[in-house]
Amino acid sequence: MVCDTPQTVVVAGGSLAGHTVVTELDRRGFTGEVVWVTGAEGVAPYSKPALSKEYMQEKVTLDTICLPPVPTDSIRLRRVDRAVCERLDPDADRVLVDGEWIPFDALFVCTGMRPRVPAEFAGLPGVHPLRTLADARAVRDRLAGRPRTVVIGAGLIGCETAASLRSLGLPVELVVQTGLPLEPLLGEELGRFCLDQHHTRGVTTRLSATVTALTPDGPGGAVTVDLDDGTSTTGDLVILGLGAVPALDWLQGAGLDLTDGLVCDAGLRTARGNVYAAGDIANWPHPLFGRRLRVEHWSNASAQARHAVGTWAADQEGGPHREFADIPYFWSDQYGLKYQMLGHARGHDEVRVDTAGPGGHPFVTYHREGRLVAAAGVNATRAVMGMRTAIQTGAGPGPLPAGTAPRRETA
Ligand SMILES: Cc1cc2nc3c(=O)[nH]c(=O)nc-3n(C[C@H](O)[C@H](O)[C@H](O)COP(=O)(O)OP(=O)(O)OC[C@H]3O[C@@H](n4cnc5c(N)ncnc54)[C@H](O)[C@@H]3O)c2cc1C
Repeated sequence: MVCDTPQTVVVAGGSLAGHTVVTELDRRGFTGEVVWVTGAEGVAPYSKPALSKEYMQEKVTLDTICLPPVPTDSIRLRRVDRAVCERLDPDADRVLVDGEWIPFDALFVCTGMRPRVPAEFAGLPGVHPLRTLADARAVRDRLAGRPRTVVIGAGLIGCETAASLRSLGLPVELVVQTGLPLEPLLGEELGRFCLDQHHTRGVTTRLSATVTALTPDGPGGAVTVDLDDGTSTTGDLVILGLGAVPALDWLQGAGLDLTDGLVCDAGLRTARGNVYAAGDIANWPHPLFGRRLRVEHWSNASAQARHAVGTWAADQEGGPHREFADIPYFWSDQYGLKYQMLGHARGHDEVRVDTAGPGGHPFVTYHREGRLVAAAGVNATRAVMGMRTAIQTGAGPGPLPAGTAPRRETA
């Protein structure tokens, strides 16, 4: 049990990281008050990954993707729903919520991301980002009309949404700003594999194209999509998969470093000693990769939340901090194929490609200065996850397996 003295802990953010912080505080036997400010959405906490996959394909309902109720065996929980933290006082330990200043002994910042929507595209009829349940519902509500859909952006969410809508038999066009879908994340080989999958399933693609204008002036509200190569296309529905930015606005002027997320130390504590961060918003120095990371993936959010509570508990007891050294991991489901990546490939100087990896799909390892830094594959869970120890220990590339082609490159 930690903290016998009465304390108030404020948790900002009602998604995976915030939910996990509250759960972990209770699991550790914290007996103080937890004020959980869950954000503006006003729905029970839910898991986002299904939004672009099973939920979009109407294979699951909201009940299935809701996170379990948080336990309240030891904590006194005050939930503040349909509200956001508007400001963190730079001079006192308190946050402004709905006109009320709430004092805290510790604050966990788990406010995640908001979708990147260029101002000129915001609020246009027929144009939707995809970050929240409300976004996914708004898209789903349109599907019965069998819209021609243009998906702008071929990162994880753009590719998954294109795959989901195509799986429903809808005509889909995918605008790929980079050369290949998923290429910035997974590299050339898996990017090409992903492109081939979309083409095989009947998705039309526009490669190396940037959208310059969206104009909802077509018949029935159709949106004209202008591209920087001088061409244009039309969609009844346009989905923006342009990435996301950390939800930091409320922390401006609070004396925190907000350079690409909320900057914290290796234990996930910020420079304001009683403020901690977890999830998509946290920017921390990864001890293994020797650089600061900010990871926008599901398993990172829950693991960091537990870790941040551990750091807070260590602070209560005057104990040492542990560094957060989990290896980043993500998956992506498209057309029944599971893409997975373990590790952090940025900065790699060599890739090794097994063109006939598990299941006959490409399996790729990424190396930096002779160390294995990441591995990725398709329907290859065992092979990808089996690389964990080698990444942790910084194993060298080793001998080339049959069918594997090494390539020097810089990323
Ligand atoms: C459509 C989609 C599909 C995804 N698929 C995958 C996948 O397949 N694999 C994978 O690894 N990851 C996936 N992810 C990423 C994963 O869902 C995120 O990493 C995870 O949700 C991060 O959780 P978080 O709690 O840090 O932030 P978020 O989920 O962004 O939650 C932030 C919370 O804070 C609230 N909030 C914002 N501002 C304030 C404020 N000022 N005060 C109080 N509350 C505030 C928000 O309302 C929200 O409740 C996907 C994400 C999306 C959107």
